[in-house]
Amino acid sequence: MTLSTFAVKLTLLALVAQPLAALAEEPRTTAGAERARAQSADARDELNDATPIVGRKLVKLNRPVPATREYTPFDPKAAIVENENKDAASRDDQSNGELEAIGREIVDFRFQSGQGRYMMEDENGMLRVFPQSAIESVEDAPDTTLGDLRAKVTSELQREFGATFWTHATSRYLFVSDTSEGYVKWCARLFDDLDEAFEKYARKRRVPLTERVEPLIVVIFAKRADFIKYASVETTHPEVLSAYYNIQTNRVALYDLSQVEGTQDVGSRRKKSTISETREFLSRPNAAYNVATIVHEATHQLAFNRGVFKRSGPIALWAVEGLSLVVETPSASLRQNGWVYRGAFPTNERMKSIYDARSVATKITFKDVVAQDAYYADIETSYAFSWALFYYLERKRPGDLASYLRLLQEKPECSVYSKEERIADFEACFGDNWEKLEKNIQTFMRRL
Ligand SMILES: [Zn+2]
Repeated sequence: MTLSTFAVKLTLLALVAQPLAALAEEPRTTAGAERARAQSADARDELNDATPIVGRKLVKLNRPVPATREYTPFDPKAAIVENENKDAASRDDQSNGELEAIGREIVDFRFQSGQGRYMMEDENGMLRVFPQSAIESVEDAPDTTLGDLRAKVTSELQREFGATFWTHATSRYLFVSDTSEGYVKWCARLFDDLDEAFEKYARKRRVPLTERVEPLIVVIFAKRADFIKYASVETTHPEVLSAYYNIQTNRVALYDLSQVEGTQDVGSRRKKSTISETREFLSRPNAAYNVATIVHEATHQLAFNRGVFKRSGPIALWAVEGLSLVVETPSASLRQNGWVYRGAFPTNERMKSIYDARSVATKITFKDVVAQDAYYADIETSYAFSWALFYYLERKRPGDLASYLRLLQEKPECSVYSKEERIADFEACFGDNWEKLEKNIQTFMRRL
């Protein structure tokens, strides 16, 4: 899977007419709601500056191994291409010649032959794969705290993005941006609300989550042009995107969707209050779509960082997209932030209309959807069918869906996931009567 499989969704969203939720009808945030928000934020204060970060590894290298922002799936059985890192360096060298890396071990594939690799997530959240030949040693790294790590990552981000960018931290996230404070703080509330909802949802559906102390990074560009320039290093069609999650860098990147290109200048917008700015943004006709896009990508980031899916793979593509397509749908009654979870996810009308049209026009079955390890040429169909299957199972067979997600969690890192195994895992949780499943989903969809 490549990065563009995540990114590509936005291509299709741009092509689809938007059924819009009635944002204008949303009630204003009340004092009670503000209090509730403050209390729930308190409840999550286990993540604070003093939170210890332990159990990390220090990799010492005999030569610099550049980090690359391009997603490179890694097959532990495949032979090492000796110049792979030289290629990466020419594209995007962020290593600065460093001979050490600290982070979380993902998998240790060092072998007697000396031909192995070591995979980790470094302190900046990047997936790193070190060829064994470049490794001097792997040892325990000194412990740190969230406060110290945040300070370190913040200064790295400041170095990477420059003086016009500033950062904003919440308990889970670290935002780096050059746009208005109002927009960044609105985004921060949206991400925090999603984080909280995600936890509630997982608890309700008995999907086990792992905790993650390290901050999740979100990059918000003021200007679309700067976003495209940044994204072009990582993906082939950045011009069709408005936000994306990169499994390699672990970042969500987006641009300020509240801006009308060329008509607003960031400096003057900074003076506006958050409330009036957000209200103005959310009253626009495209607001529901924009909010859904951001929530979709943020859901990918959470799912890959709270242990629902593994960044190292193997990945069940239909479930990865299905989950985000279900979660992105806001509850019918929208509040100030544009997205709220009320214990259930409503129908994604955009996906349903595509599914309705394609289920007649195509011969693709749900068995095909489960077996796929890459999107079909017609990506809309992949998405709509993934959504339909996930939504049906989420509504009608949540216990079996949770078992399936747990089964995925147990897959060994970086392992090859064949079509046969994908089908077998699905059948182990939902049975092998595919005909009945097809019929049940058709009936379910008709009744929505
Ligand atoms: Zn997606």
